[in-house]
Amino acid sequence: MPTPATTRIYNFSAGPAVLPLPVLEEAQRDLVSLPGVGMSVMEISHRSKTFEDLLNGAIEDIRALAGIPATYRILMLQGGATLQFSMVPMNLLGAGATADYIDTGSWADKAIKEAKKVGTVNIAATTKADKYTRIPAPGECTLTPGAAYVHITTNNTIEGTEWHTIPDTGDAPLVADASSDMFHGPMDVARFGLIYAGAQKNLGPSGVTLVIVREDLLARSTEALPIMLNYKVHAENNSLYNTPNTFGIYILGLTMKWLKAQGGLQAVARANERKAGKLYAEIDRTGFYRGTAQKDSRSVMNVTFRLPSEDLEKQFVKESTAAGLDGLQGHRSVGGMRASIYNAFPEDGVDALVAFMREFERKRG
Ligand SMILES: *Cc1c(COP(=O)(O)O)cnc(C)c1O
Repeated sequence: MPTPATTRIYNFSAGPAVLPLPVLEEAQRDLVSLPGVGMSVMEISHRSKTFEDLLNGAIEDIRALAGIPATYRILMLQGGATLQFSMVPMNLLGAGATADYIDTGSWADKAIKEAKKVGTVNIAATTKADKYTRIPAPGECTLTPGAAYVHITTNNTIEGTEWHTIPDTGDAPLVADASSDMFHGPMDVARFGLIYAGAQKNLGPSGVTLVIVREDLLARSTEALPIMLNYKVHAENNSLYNTPNTFGIYILGLTMKWLKAQGGLQAVARANERKAGKLYAEIDRTGFYRGTAQKDSRSVMNVTFRLPSEDLEKQFVKESTAAGLDGLQGHRSVGGMRASIYNAFPEDGVDALVAFMREFERKRG
């Protein structure tokens, strides 16, 4: 019988995305009965010591991986990053205050639309006129003095751009949607007021949203909020106010252990730089492929590129899929190709794509 490794194809999907094989294998092995428990993780009470240990273990590993200060709370919520588009302003944007948003892509734009339903929003900068092919320079951002917070999208999953320097927002807490580059490398959490990430790109399966929030900001969550949308309630209940996504948290926890076993975020960053470096080098090699993001804004997680014509792009998708390189079609809103190469994406898959690109160009270029 073939092993799972030999039957697995290379999954370049933007999300839900590839998970580490050892994580899947451990989950498979323990699916019917967790060792010493005799039940599946999906069958045990979320109030049991077993589950609390799993949850707290995951939280401790997250804290250790990024050296997160004790003044931050780590929450595991539901509703995806999209619910955070609403929860962030509902909790942090008080009446009469203004929130600054930096518009760097389709997800940032969605966050802005939700925030506007809640309060006053200032678009501090936008690169929409450049089709979101770049991150704005610090000088382009007009921040509101005394803003309730400044919101950025650290990695623009669809457009393939990423902030390489965290902007200085003075006293205004920086809020980041890090859904597609959370833990792609070391991060200085102390620079942020709140970070959120849907798990299904770089952390685990869909259905869990990681929220890291500075404790003092919880004072802004008023009792008037619907209880499930209140960060303070979730923090006071260690994400167990109601039944959390127990299975999702379990897999996320295993993924954090895998990250630690890789040597932590420094080591993962080196691997990610190497993987992305190989792909961008191939894109830049002759001009047949064309990177869509400006060079200084390129993402290490989502590599976007085009071919000389849409016909060739269609052919590329068809042939690459047939060759076991899945999910390379770009987002429907921008077209072209997108190779999502998150932490769990293996380097030999990048090598396979580079070889495929060479051969495709040789035949069609
Ligand atoms: C995928 C994604 C989202 C949406 O996440 P959901 O969990 O599906 O709500 C939001 N922001 C970014 C940057 C994303 O990549």
